[in-house]
Amino acid sequence: MGEPVAEPRLRQVVDGVFAWVQPDGTWWVNNAGAVAGDGAVLVVDTCATEQRTRRFLEALDEATGGVPVRLAVNTHQHGDHAYGNSLLPEAAVLFGHEAMREALLADFVIDGCPPFWTPVPDWGNVTRRVPDVAIRGEVTVFAGGRRVELRHPGYAAHTPGDVVAWLPEERVLFTGDLIFNGLTPLVMMGSVRGALESLEWLAAFGAEHVVPGHGSLADAASLPGILAAHERYYRLVLDVARKGREHGLTPLAAARGADLGEFAAWDDAERLVLNLHRAYADAEGGEVDLLTAFGDAMTCHGGPLPTRV
Ligand SMILES: [Zn+2]
Repeated sequence: MGEPVAEPRLRQVVDGVFAWVQPDGTWWVNNAGAVAGDGAVLVVDTCATEQRTRRFLEALDEATGGVPVRLAVNTHQHGDHAYGNSLLPEAAVLFGHEAMREALLADFVIDGCPPFWTPVPDWGNVTRRVPDVAIRGEVTVFAGGRRVELRHPGYAAHTPGDVVAWLPEERVLFTGDLIFNGLTPLVMMGSVRGALESLEWLAAFGAEHVVPGHGSLADAASLPGILAAHERYYRLVLDVARKGREHGLTPLAAARGADLGEFAAWDDAERLVLNLHRAYADAEGGEVDLLTAFGDAMTCHGGPLPTRV
């Protein structure tokens, strides 16, 4: 927590297409991005806090020479990608999946963050702003003439309302949290099997440049290895859950007895127990109790979870 990490950076992925990469990608420290066309910018996700979102939007404004943000999209409901929405220009039209919109309306963390993280996040002056346009399947928007396809996989994966932003001409894919590059994936609010299924769907875009929701940028050469690692991880979660249920173990007991193997090196390893809560709920037809799940995650981590917001 105290150790220095690299500063956030606006990276130009291809001409006029940007990724806002925030190291080290841990809890609440997300990636965002933007597509700058002729006279209009589309923003892909905001950040968790006022400070981080302002920094992103200022860097973007500088890079585009002040081209106005006219469109925006949230890849999913989580606050690290959406709490900064209220700092977008009021006139910008915000897109998001309809399940994402409902979830952000119901989100209580923006009003008072439970002490699950250290430091307890300080959102700053942000207010809840939900999408103006709700997506069910897919919609194509044009950011100053540049084609951007906003697509839902058709099932819950990271969350029920995941949307990717795909630029078919530039072959750039903004995946949101369907990909955590080098950090432990989180599917507690989605579906382990859906997340597994989404990997082939992601691969099928044939992207040359990939902006993940957390972690460093990827490309056509690195993507197959990243997707394969996600697959092995999700299969491990399903396997630990199956054996845990067979032995009558709680998700916490199953997590504590599990060998993470190659994934022990990924940050935020305590997410295993959160993902097991989801796998158990999916297998038993229940819902995840978030307070219990996060209590278990803190037990696994040995205290509140690390963040930098
Ligand atoms: Zn997320």
